[in-house]
Amino acid sequence: MSFELPKLPYELNALEPYISKQTLEFHYGKHHQAYVTNLNNLLPGSKFENASLETIVKESDGGVFNNGAQVWNHTFYFMQFSAKGTRVPQGKLADAIHAKFGSFEKFKEEFTKAGATLFGAGWAWLSKDKEGNLVITQEGNAGNPLRSGLTPVMTCDVWEHAYYLDTQNRRPDYLKNFWEILDWDVIGKRF
Ligand code: MN
Repeated sequence: MSFELPKLPYELNALEPYISKQTLEFHYGKHHQAYVTNLNNLLPGSKFENASLETIVKESDGGVFNNGAQVWNHTFYFMQFSAKGTRVPQGKLADAIHAKFGSFEKFKEEFTKAGATLFGAGWAWLSKDKEGNLVITQEGNAGNPLRSGLTPVMTCDVWEHAYYLDTQNRRPDYLKNFWEILDWDVIGKRF
């Protein structure tokens, strides 16, 4: 199977001033595209040649996993943003956040801490476990909670390439901006 870079549902300047057009040109246009290209180059002749992306994320390793999971993770990340959208959780997801963390503000604090304290490159995740409870996890490099039997709901890319052009070494500033562009209608449908 050959994979393609998914089209974004917004313009490259739509997330400004929180994520710049320049960052999206590199992060989406170059990095995300490179993972797609690398994956397509690695698949022919491998046992994952005809596998779905989700199967690749769950079962592969080495270069196929690194590139396949990065394709999945970046698509999941970019699709959760919008220029104008619902900026606070709604409905069942709001209820689950309140039940687990006490309030949206407390959840934001805990998730931001997970992103800020992840050493090196990786991802902070909000996922749902088999009982429907929310859980925050950190994954290094291309890690993805699907491999632990969790259902991803929301994610933050904390690789430096996600923010270096906008906030340089200041990951906490990027994490602050992150909340301003999340679309909780999109995220709620994943829960
Ligand atoms: Mn990235």
